Amino acid sequence: MKFEQERRQVVRYLRRMLAAGLTTGSGGNISLRIPGTAYFCMSPTGIGYDVMRAKDIVVMEDEGHTLAGKRSPSSEWRMHAAVYAARPEIGAVVHTHSAYATTFACLREEIPPVHYLIGFAGKKVPVAPYATYGSEELAALAAAALGSEYNAVLLATHGLLAVGTDIERAFTVAEEVELVARICWQARAIGTPVALPDDEMARVIEKFKNYGTAAAEISGSER
Ligand SMILES: [Zn+2]
Repeated sequence: MKFEQERRQVVRYLRRMLAAGLTTGSGGNISLRIPGTAYFCMSPTGIGYDVMRAKDIVVMEDEGHTLAGKRSPSSEWRMHAAVYAARPEIGAVVHTHSAYATTFACLREEIPPVHYLIGFAGKKVPVAPYATYGSEELAALAAAALGSEYNAVLLATHGLLAVGTDIERAFTVAEEVELVARICWQARAIGTPVALPDDEMARVIEKFKNYGTAAAEISGSER
């Protein structure tokens, strides 16, 4: 099978997304860029994560042509393609409808730096204007809101888009944004959370650049 390792990895992270409570059913989608090529692995539409196999993952390029896989790619593939076109350093894209981040997306309100962990996404998580799911318009709006300085963006009245240099990093961004969204919601329920100033967030973001390496050194894990 072509690109078996990469396709297996996408299935593994889709299951992790479900197990981590970042999605329900077959919601959300994940893609992984194949380094040195114009192709990326894209999760398919209409199949549950529990029965999904590596062969179900579609290998495609940004015009929509498929190289491998018989299934149809997720209808949101254009959004993934737009990120890869705009950000050459990005290796993976995770899109979820995780409940707390999506709550902010429905308010069309950015997630402020009420906890330093937002630094995985940037100094805050901005909101991209609303457009119909799967549309080229949404793909363009999401990529524009992400710009070059953010690793996550809320999609108005829809969900969250998280990106990273590799799939573990993109997944971590999605997880941490969901956690901070929940903390912000909880803090506002009983008081007024205090946002970190710009210069402190700049320090945190700088420290996070080495996060993966440091964690691997400490734990010996692949992270
Ligand atoms: Zn979606």
